Amino acid sequence: MKIFLKMIVLGMTMSLLYGQNVWAGILEDVMEGKALVTDLTYPLNDKNAYWPVGNYASFKFEVIANIKKDMVFSGRYSTPEHLGTHIDAPNHFEINQPSVDQIPFEQLIGPAVIIDVRDMTDRNPDYTFSQSDILLWEKANGQIPDGSIVLLNTGWSRRWNNFEDYKNMDSNSRMHFPGYSKEAAAFLVEKRHIKGIGIDTLSGDCGSCSDFKVHHIMNGAGKFILENVATLDMLPPKGVTLIIAPIKIEGGSGGQCRIWALLPK
Ligand SMILES: [Zn+2]
Repeated sequence: MKIFLKMIVLGMTMSLLYGQNVWAGILEDVMEGKALVTDLTYPLNDKNAYWPVGNYASFKFEVIANIKKDMVFSGRYSTPEHLGTHIDAPNHFEINQPSVDQIPFEQLIGPAVIIDVRDMTDRNPDYTFSQSDILLWEKANGQIPDGSIVLLNTGWSRRWNNFEDYKNMDSNSRMHFPGYSKEAAAFLVEKRHIKGIGIDTLSGDCGSCSDFKVHHIMNGAGKFILENVATLDMLPPKGVTLIIAPIKIEGGSGGQCRIWALLPK
């Protein structure tokens, strides 16, 4: 009987491990030093990329107290919400959707899949990630599990230290960088029931896609978009658990967040 019970528990564990691609014990593994933790967040500073229109501005930090003079070190900062590694909340492009402080924790943690499209963007900075690219990835890696967070590695992080190269603006002020297509976004929402998407560029939509269809599809379905995600090349295509911790701006349309990728050793 005992063996029979053990078999059931083992079966349930295996289905958690491989069926849903979620390793329930990953936090214990982190604490015991048995998991790799990768920080997918760029440090905030005045060189960080931001959406370069209107009232958007660069990150500013100033010291308001220092230890020598004031016996304490302290600073203050100002930033647009959509600067550096950040989350677009569902209310960014759609009304009656949750603001950044209202996104539930359960939506901010989950299995991540990392899709490498660097070969495509080398040839075409206006590349948009398509539904057939998803199916190609799934042929090699299995179907994207329900509740996943999809991260697109376009290789754009190579340009991070040069804002001009990163936004890649032409003489008509049109930017050129890769993004998701609206078909891919709709497929991920409707057929794969993902929690959200992320990318290593300024936007989920491509730089020259001025209609923001991907934002409307994701936000309209109550989903988030992570932008300017760092160090995606460190990660395998699957087996990663993601933790996203956004700043809690009441009613905010998004904001800076720490993003950690956890991977069993
Ligand atoms: Zn944004």
